Amino acid sequence: MKWSVEGKWIVSGLALSLLLMGIISFISYRNATQLIESGNKVKHTHEVMKSLIDIFATLTDAESGRRGYILYGERSELNRYNQAMQSLDAKIQKLQQQLADDSLQQQQLTKLKLLIAQRTKLSKQSINLKNTGKSSFNIQETLVNISNQNRSQIRDNISQMQMREEKLLEISVKYSQNNIHNRMLIEFIGTLLNFAILLGVYILLYQQLVKRQQAEAIQRTLAQEKELSELKLRFFSMVSHEFRTPLSIILGSAQLLAQSNQNFPEERKLKNLHRIQSSARLMNQLLSDILTLTRAEAGKIEFHPELLDLEAFCINLLEDFKLFSQQQHVIKFVSQSNFTHAKLDENLLYSILTNLLSNAIKYSPQQKDILLILSSEADAIIFQVKDFGIGLPSEFQQHLFEPFHRANNVGKIVGTGLGLAVVKKCLEVHQGEIYVESELGTGTTFTVRIPKDDSQNKE
Ligand code: ATP
Ligand code: MG
Repeated sequence: MKWSVEGKWIVSGLALSLLLMGIISFISYRNATQLIESGNKVKHTHEVMKSLIDIFATLTDAESGRRGYILYGERSELNRYNQAMQSLDAKIQKLQQQLADDSLQQQQLTKLKLLIAQRTKLSKQSINLKNTGKSSFNIQETLVNISNQNRSQIRDNISQMQMREEKLLEISVKYSQNNIHNRMLIEFIGTLLNFAILLGVYILLYQQLVKRQQAEAIQRTLAQEKELSELKLRFFSMVSHEFRTPLSIILGSAQLLAQSNQNFPEERKLKNLHRIQSSARLMNQLLSDILTLTRAEAGKIEFHPELLDLEAFCINLLEDFKLFSQQQHVIKFVSQSNFTHAKLDENLLYSILTNLLSNAIKYSPQQKDILLILSSEADAIIFQVKDFGIGLPSEFQQHLFEPFHRANNVGKIVGTGLGLAVVKKCLEVHQGEIYVESELGTGTTFTVRIPKDDSQNKE
């Protein structure tokens, strides 16, 4: 597959955008994990602090018990001392586990353990002295002094351990804060970059779309122009072809008449004159059809509706037909309507019915009758032209009203394919419609439906 320059840009832009999104997501993920870790660290620090406070409180409790026993000899105080000392081991054990990953704290803990051991020893000595009745102030004083010293050493040790924990927590919080800040910055820059890339891709795509639309528009115009020029070509060749036959008949007959002498029979002269007349009429019809179509295309078809006596109009039309067309067919007029007048354009209606009747005559055998039926509906006038002729092939019916289209069953029957296109245009200005029913070899019925103008039509 060959990529255009824009295509390459779009693909690279999208890939870059995806990469950026991936990086941002990775950083966010890492940052979230660090935050969780930092949360765990805070929790851990609190637990260590709690353990340290607990150990110190237990030592204080044991000390109070010991003193109580020494001063007042209360057994309950001795019990208090014993209980506190018994629970101490488990607490130290717990603290050791909590500090397992910090070697510095481990060292401090070892020191603490030594101090606690020393304290235990001193307390035991003091209690033993008491038990042996040597509880006088002088004897106990040395022990008390050493004990106080040990006590302040333990306090210092514990506060050092607490400070260390606080320091670690502070470092961890600072690290998280930095991370959050960096992540926000990266996310902001990444989003901006992504936006810029997507905007660039959008602009490229839009430009491509505009280019494609322009190319399509040019192609459409070219196709239209081609179609138009083909139509024109077809039109001119058809027109020149159609004109050539009647013109050569006129020329031939005129030449014959010019060369004729007195011996030339009168009957043949008349025949030639008739041929000239009918050829000229054909040319006239052709020209008038072309004129009507071009006017209709330009929207300049003349439309002068006036009140017509429909029956009289149809009868006159049929008489004109008999007079001019020299046809052998019998055209029957049937009026099924009590609707006598309508406001229509006489010339256009004349053109519509003449074309339909001349088709009926052309495309049916002489011995077959033709019917012109006038009827009406509540809101329309209906004209029908019915023949029993060659009929229309069904596949041709969609092209029936297109100029220069003729069915393939016309044989040698002369025609240009303009008549029905003219009919259609004349009907359009009346807002009318035309339908066809036809069976090949049986006959055709054209139905013209023109809406009534209620304000002016008379029943
Ligand atoms: P023109 O009327 O311009 O002299 P035409 O009769 O060939 O030429 P249209 O009247 O437009 O042209 O008719 C188009 C085609 O429709 C005809 O060539 C013919 O094939 C078919 N057609 C029209 N009327 C009938 C009909 N009554 N019976 C059978 N075929 C018809
Ligand atoms: Mg015709």
